[in-house]
Amino acid sequence: MFESLLEARPGPGVQVIAAVLSRDRTCTFPGCAVPAFRCDLDHVRRPSPPGPGVTQETTDVGPDELISLCRHHHVVRARHGWRPELAIDGTVRWTSPTGHRYVRERPGTVVQTSTAAQNRESPVIRS
Ligand SMILES: [Zn+2]
Repeated sequence: MFESLLEARPGPGVQVIAAVLSRDRTCTFPGCAVPAFRCDLDHVRRPSPPGPGVTQETTDVGPDELISLCRHHHVVRARHGWRPELAIDGTVRWTSPTGHRYVRERPGTVVQTSTAAQNRESPVIRS
């Protein structure tokens, strides 16, 4: 029974998971420092053009379409409409429900790319 469940819902392989954790190091939500190994892997659209060695015809889930999200921010994304875009270099560009944009360039580094003086969302964080 378990084998049929696994076959019906294939997940990323160990190498793919290791590549995502190594790239992200932490949750990719702006300003979050939860270690990636404690996060969920969330699907994002494959970057365009695809990364090296990846073709558009590839159906297997690869590290170029997964990001690390802690459970809290996984729920925030799903319920509140935050939209991530993963770039080939691992940068994650987030768009908030109000349209403000944040770029998570590397673990712990977040740059707000839209101006919003009255913005009540996360402040600009640099490390
Ligand atoms: Zn998080």
